[in-house]
Order: sequence, then structure tokens, then C-alpha cells
Amino acid sequence: MNPLRVYNTYTRKKEDFKPIDGKRVKMFVCGPTVYDLSHLGHARTYIAYDIIARWLRYRGYDLFYLMNITDVDDKIIERAKKRREDPLKMAREFERLFFRDIRSLNIDTIDLYAHASEHIPEIIDQIRRMIEKGFAYVTQTGVYFDVSKFEDYGKLSHQKPEELRRHRIEPDPNKRNLQDFSLWKKRKGEEPAWDSPWGKGRPGWHIEDTAMAEKYLGQQYDIHGGGADLIFPHHEAEIAQMESISGKKPMTKYWVHTGFLKVKGKKMAKSLGNFITIQDALKDYDVETLRLFFSSTHYHSPINFHEKGLEQAKRTLESLYATLDNVRRGARSLKELKDDERALKRKIKENRRRFGEAMDDDFNTPLALTYIYDLDKDSNKLLDKQGNINDRLADDLIATFKELGGIFGILQKERVEEELPEDLKALIEERERARERKDWRTADEIRNWLEEFGVILEDTSQGVRWKKKRQF
Ligand code: AMP
Repeated sequence: MNPLRVYNTYTRKKEDFKPIDGKRVKMFVCGPTVYDLSHLGHARTYIAYDIIARWLRYRGYDLFYLMNITDVDDKIIERAKKRREDPLKMAREFERLFFRDIRSLNIDTIDLYAHASEHIPEIIDQIRRMIEKGFAYVTQTGVYFDVSKFEDYGKLSHQKPEELRRHRIEPDPNKRNLQDFSLWKKRKGEEPAWDSPWGKGRPGWHIEDTAMAEKYLGQQYDIHGGGADLIFPHHEAEIAQMESISGKKPMTKYWVHTGFLKVKGKKMAKSLGNFITIQDALKDYDVETLRLFFSSTHYHSPINFHEKGLEQAKRTLESLYATLDNVRRGARSLKELKDDERALKRKIKENRRRFGEAMDDDFNTPLALTYIYDLDKDSNKLLDKQGNINDRLADDLIATFKELGGIFGILQKERVEEELPEDLKALIEERERARERKDWRTADEIRNWLEEFGVILEDTSQGVRWKKKRQF
């Protein structure tokens, strides 16, 4: 088997995937800040990691997947103030809606969700160690990480110190260096706050992830992921935190980042107001359509959001389901495979292999999908030619579509024995009567008319059969 290869933001290369501990894989993905509804940009990232997780497990890795939930944060406090609500209570409410989104998106790979507010002792303990080792300092406003003490600062985002100076983050006269970021913020006004050796306060944004990661995954683990917006400063700061206390042991072996979902060239974001919530999108499009739409672009590339793309995904999916139906309907228990069937059997094997190679090449979902489409095309060709298909081959095909589709979360709906509407059934009967009378003109008219409704008739030695027309 070829090795799995993963693009690592840190080395800027595709690398062979070699987990620290054999077949065990530990993955951390940055989850939501729960101060608003989740939008399709979030869905893009969450679905991408869901597919990555599914593929790792499919490939036999024993994956532990951890996601954090930021429930204490400036944005939450600001929003709660505007809504005159308690920040933690408001965060719980948006978290409930986040879980509803996750369920609606059929994301089922995450083993553990960890909340910032429930890891305050671990956070305090990490900050204490950073101070002891001389990487952090206390001011009147809180505790800061001193980036000048961590010479590797900038190594993930590939920025030199002079480039880093261009980002002015967290202006505060108490800081030693402009780039220093806060680990602990002393309480201002009516904010949620916890006791600490540095006074009542709350954690800075970056520290929760390393505190949770250290607790559940250790100081070194395999994959850390999130959207590309998190490379700097968030993930850069995380490296500084974890590696300063671990004695520079590389925190994460593979840094993985998803490309943005963009709208007219701009990132879909809460702050830009150009977002479509996940629930709104699901009113118009089935979850499998959304998942196919996202899978049709490589996780690393940005996606330009367009209704047309969703419409295309919808049609493709309908067409694949039509093929599944037609394969089922055309299945006949025949002993021998015919030549074309033997060729299709070989194709199944070949395409499964190539699908695997595509997924192993940095989770290349758009390429992997082409092997499903190729099988779809050949199945239809065979059905068109023969009018039926050997039942063992049909079972093999259906199982393959479902198994490979399952990696993306498509083609998972149970078979619903489709019934034609009564009026169409009556028309088919009328056509049969016309044929018995040898009234070929009426029979043809009815056939053409039904075709416009997407129903194709086939006259076989066992009577008339219908199948759905493919969409493209
Ligand atoms: P947030 O709640 O905004 O902190 O985001 C939660 C996760 O979704 C992070 O991993 C972000 O990088 C990711 N994310 C947010 N907006 C987008 C977007 N437009 N496209 C892709 N990923 C996004």
C-alpha cells in the first residue's frame, strides 16, 4: 500500500504520514467561538476534517479527534453585553445551536469536545510554568507571553521578526514587545472571571488549546488543524506556548489548514456579514448536496461560494442515486458474467484502488470523486446495452458506491422503493393496451411523454420496465 501523504503547513511540503505512536493518531481541530450562528464557512472546515477523520479510520488508524469550544472570549463578552445577557449562558445557547449544526451536517467523527471554561486549572498551570521558565511575565493587566524569549516565533507562518512587527495585535502599554500576546486577562467590569495567582481574570484566546491538548493528547501529537486564518497568530502562539514548556519538543507533527469559503473573493465571515447560516442552507439543499459540494474542491484550496455549484452538486447526486436505483432494478440472478460485466467488475477493483491513492495523496477528494463518477458512467453504459445486470455484480457496485461515498458522507440514504405516481402508472398501462392493439403511434407518444417526466420505458421479454432518466 502506498503511504498516506499529508501537506504540512510547517514544512510547506507533502510528507509521508508517520504518526508518533504507530497506528494511533491524535488530532486536534480548532472549533467554534460560540457567540453566533455557524455559517457555511465553518461547515467547509468542519466537513473537511470529518472527511479526513473518516479516511484515517477507514485506513485502519486508531484516531482520537479532539475539538475545543471557545466559550470565554472577547467576542462572546461583547455580544452578550449588547444582548444584555450573561456571557456564559449565551455561549451555552450558541453551543447548543452549534451541536445542532454538527448533527445536521452528519459529522460524527469527533471523540471529545472540550470547553475553555472547564479547563481553567490546566490553563493556570501552563501559564505558571511559562512564568517559571521565563517565557511569560505579569503586568497590571494580566500575563503576557514574551515572544522575544522564544526565538522560533514565526516558524509556522514563515515570517521573520521584521514581518511580524507589521501585525499590531493587542495594543497595551504594559507589554514588553508589540507581538507579546496575553495568556491571562485581569477582570475588567462584569466579565466572567476565575481566581488565579495573578488575580481574578480569564484566559487569553490561545492558551485554552494548548492546555487541553496537553491534558488529552500530550505535549506532542500528530495533527493540528483549523482554517487558514488561524495560522497566524493563533497557531503560532500555540507553538510558542507548548514548546516553551516542553523544552522545544515539536508540538504537532502535521499542521493542516483548510482554505476559506469565499463570497465574491472575500472570506465568508460573521464580521463581514456575508454569511449563510448552515440551517438556512439546509432549507434549500440536502446535507449530502452540501457535503458533495465541499468535497468537490480540495480541502486546502479556497472555494468560491456560488449557488450554481450547489445546484450542480444536487444534480450530480440525483444522478448517482438514479444509477443506484437502476442498478437495483436491473439486477437479475444470472449465473455467468458477460464480457462487459467482467470488465465492469475489474473496473470496480481498479477504481477502488485509484480512489484510495487519491485520498492518500493529501486527501484529494475531487480526484477521488472522479472514480465514483467513472463507475457511474460505466454502470449506465452496461445497463443501457444489456437492459439488466448480474445480481452479484449489482450488489458489488452498490456496496462500492456506498462504501466510497461514505467517506464523503454521500449516497448513504436507505433505498426507498420508488413508486411511480398513479397517473404515470395508468399511462404505462394505457400504452400496454395500445401496444396490444398495435397502435404504435399512441404507444410512442406515451413513451415520449413519460420521458419528459424523467421516466424511460424498456420493453423486455418479461414485459415493460421503467427506469429513471439520468440528469446529465
Ligand atoms: P470561528 O468560530 O470563527 O473561530 O471558526 C471556527 C472554525 O471555522 C475555525 O477553524 C476557522 O478557521 C473556520 N472558519 C471560519 N470561517 C471560515 C471560512 N469562511 N472558510 C473556512 N473556514 C472557516
